[in-house]
Amino acid sequence: MAALKAPGRRSRKSAAATQAAGSGSSLVERKLRHLGLHQPSDFVVHLPLRYEDETRVVPIASVQPGASAQIEGDVIRSEVQFRPRRQLHAIIQDDTGQLALRWLHFYPNQQKQVEAGKRIRVRGEVRHGFGGYEMVHPKVSAAGTPLPQALTPVYPATDGLSQASLRKAIDAALDTADLSDSLPAELCQRYNLISFADAIRVLHHPPANVSYADLIEREHPAWVRIKFDELLAQQLSLAAARAARRRQRAPALTAVQAVLPQQLQASLPFELTGAQARVIAEISQDLRRTFPMHRLLQGDVGSGKTIVAAFAAVQAIASGCQVAIMAPTEILAEQHFHKLSAWLEPLGVHLAWLAGSLTGKQRKAAFDAVASGQAQLVVGTTALIQEKVIFAKLGLIILDEQHRFGVGQRLELSRKGEDSLGHEALIPHQLNMSATPIPRTLAMTFFADLDVSAIDELPPGRSPVLTKLIADSRRDEVLGSVMTEVREGRQAYWVCPLVEESEALQLQTAVDTHARLVQALPDMRVGLIHGKLATAEKQAVMHDFRAGSIDLLVATTVIEVGVDVPNASLMIIEHAERFGLAQLHQLRGRVGRGSLQSICVLMYQTPLSMIARQRLRAMYETADGFDIARRDLELRGPGEFLGVRQSGQELLRFASIDTDIRIAEQAREAVVELRDHYPGHAQSHLRRWMRNKQDFLRS
Ligand code: ADP
Ligand code: MG
Repeated sequence: MAALKAPGRRSRKSAAATQAAGSGSSLVERKLRHLGLHQPSDFVVHLPLRYEDETRVVPIASVQPGASAQIEGDVIRSEVQFRPRRQLHAIIQDDTGQLALRWLHFYPNQQKQVEAGKRIRVRGEVRHGFGGYEMVHPKVSAAGTPLPQALTPVYPATDGLSQASLRKAIDAALDTADLSDSLPAELCQRYNLISFADAIRVLHHPPANVSYADLIEREHPAWVRIKFDELLAQQLSLAAARAARRRQRAPALTAVQAVLPQQLQASLPFELTGAQARVIAEISQDLRRTFPMHRLLQGDVGSGKTIVAAFAAVQAIASGCQVAIMAPTEILAEQHFHKLSAWLEPLGVHLAWLAGSLTGKQRKAAFDAVASGQAQLVVGTTALIQEKVIFAKLGLIILDEQHRFGVGQRLELSRKGEDSLGHEALIPHQLNMSATPIPRTLAMTFFADLDVSAIDELPPGRSPVLTKLIADSRRDEVLGSVMTEVREGRQAYWVCPLVEESEALQLQTAVDTHARLVQALPDMRVGLIHGKLATAEKQAVMHDFRAGSIDLLVATTVIEVGVDVPNASLMIIEHAERFGLAQLHQLRGRVGRGSLQSICVLMYQTPLSMIARQRLRAMYETADGFDIARRDLELRGPGEFLGVRQSGQELLRFASIDTDIRIAEQAREAVVELRDHYPGHAQSHLRRWMRNKQDFLRS
């Protein structure tokens, strides 16, 4: 990786920056560097956030609240007022009307600028004030000076760097930078794109006749070209990452016909579903290759992803490699450890468990077993990526609920594998699992280099969960259902409301809810689990719940992902209107895991917001994770849906994954052509757009 970082960047001086800063003004230069502006080519694509229209002066009578305006007139009054606090207050007047101006803090020279009797030009945002419209902290200049001919760009800046110096530096860079086109003319023509140089010039210096709305909405052809370029660069680097991965080497895990996988198959208490068998075969195929697998396994909650992971693991183990499974929470990791132990220990596989809660002695023992290779399958939380964990020969890493991990954490585990395989320069295979299905085109367009498998079928014999929407006011009925269910020997979850503002408050709510339920249901064994419990306590509670010695488990969202207790058949979610759709679906997925008829009660408090109503309706209408994901996508838009971390949005400065899908698809199409017929263009395009962004593409 080190090779990808440009060495000595700090020392390289930018002609543009130096010019703009003038002699000896290194402060500006430092600020520019802070913005990532080093070479002229960086300045060229440092594009305006927005524009200010200073080309026109409008009559005061025409200004609208919420919009910016520039007006000119005479100051007819100017005074410092002290109520409600010290402020400078002035009234400006033209032939059409008057407008108030206010400064909450001001310097004496500002006060002088707006003395009564002066004629001034001001611009700023108009809003409702006490006695009519007003501008707060408007920009003041002398009346009558010539108006600029073009819109004024406003650049992303940083504290202590003025727009003026930024503009100067950018203009200087535009004179020296290479603006030649990185796209062949043929492609520009096909996709109706203007040239790079034209686009850049328009965006930095919009001509007088350009549509302000198009510029602001980023729909002007100049923006389209820039967005296309950016998305193309992203797609090119994805393609490059894929090609690079195929050139890497991984341990070929070829033991498919070995005893171990067959034994696992024979020992299972259930038949694999067709979908499970299919994805197991896809993964098995990947693992046999000599380049690293990078696969995402998508499957709805309860679709049975864990057993698929187990099959992948035994293939690796039978081939002489270690396997690491990392889960985002300790509860989940522990549950995996139990389940996998039950499946694999009888077959002679040695497992180890690593989490933050181990005692010093246990930890040491686990480290030793992992380092010696005695532990063949290591299950744990992010404790797996601690410095002291050293694997003997890690050939496969599996990330459950992968979207919960950051890019860095995923890379970290992979690097541990690389280190353990280091003498052979091999890279471990990687399987990512997730219950959030992502529409295929979205995945292909915005994901890092990743193959996708989907389990699109639930194990047989599950009766669908019955979902009920019940207003908060009917709490007694809900308590009644809990009693009925428990009397039948089943178990229930009671999920406490999400309190976004404060974790402490959320905890308090859980404790209170528990106390209330203990009181309301005296014959019942009511447990409580939340994120602030010590690990040992959490484990004890989960153990008791699994063993059936807790009837009703009051929980925060710590139980959201993965928890699997088939005897639990009732899920109550309080204040369901506060949860997101994906989260509700995950929570509901905690029940309906056995053959029992299960119920999910969504308690809500009125009034419901529009979006909350739609979410609850979606939960009521469908139980299909893919359908839920589709609706979630509609309600939230792809950006929020995917989450910044994995969407690749953080790589995109100009294009938006919410609105530019069509451009993204064109760019994806263009990649093939560019790589096949214009490799030189592809290279210079990547150089222009993708400096220092390579790490993301590997994760
Ligand atoms: P998830 O995909 O949500 O991680 P799990 O792997 O936890 O799902 O599986 C959910 C439950 O279904 C578990 O109790 C598991 O043992 C069971 N299961 C998995 N596959 C099958 C199958 N083919 N037939 C019956 N039960 C299955
Ligand atoms: Mg799971």
